[in-house]
Amino acid sequence: MLPAFLQGAFELFFPDNCLLCREFLNSRHRRQLCAACLESLEFNPRPLRPLPSGLTLTQAWSACLYNEPAQKLLHAFKYSSKTSLSKTFVALMIDFIDRHHIPVREFDLIVPIPLHPARLRERGYNQSALLSKGLSRHYGIPHTENLLTRRKMTRSQTELGAKQRWTNMEGAFKMKNSTDAKAKSVVLVDDLYTTGATLNAAAQTLMTAGAARVGALTFSITV
Ligand SMILES: [Zn+2]
Repeated sequence: MLPAFLQGAFELFFPDNCLLCREFLNSRHRRQLCAACLESLEFNPRPLRPLPSGLTLTQAWSACLYNEPAQKLLHAFKYSSKTSLSKTFVALMIDFIDRHHIPVREFDLIVPIPLHPARLRERGYNQSALLSKGLSRHYGIPHTENLLTRRKMTRSQTELGAKQRWTNMEGAFKMKNSTDAKAKSVVLVDDLYTTGATLNAAAQTLMTAGAARVGALTFSITV
């Protein structure tokens, strides 16, 4: 801990600003968002998403609505190397999970949606793995980052119409080691739930490899 006068000088030269509105923050509190911006993120009022029939995914929970502040934060998280945002996202997800008694501890394995290796090299980190690691640590659920690999460079889902999103994701994943999912309950983690096509494609790959069931947890969900 720095003496108060040094702390003041430190803050003068290395101020912490709210990542959304740039308002000055007291760095001693290590916050990334001011209270008003934190308030502007909305928890999902329908914690368990009713899934359309025919999905392999059995359950999907999403903590926050993908409103404008959530979009800005996720953009910074994915494209501006603001990896420290994972702390804020994980804290919000834990708050949501505990508040709704979501049975995450029933799962044997927590697995992030992987990026294609080329995209991972370009970005330097997988944002979903930062979330899944934080959740794994908090709930003590084993974490496997390399269970699945992404074998095709899929087009960005946001550029596609609803129907194309499903065909775009067909065969997108494969198992690294096909025995690792046998009889396991797996919870997939991703930053955003849109149509569920990505998560469902990953769930299909895991079920084909013998998983007992596959659920999903995401930070946000489109409304
Ligand atoms: Zn703010």
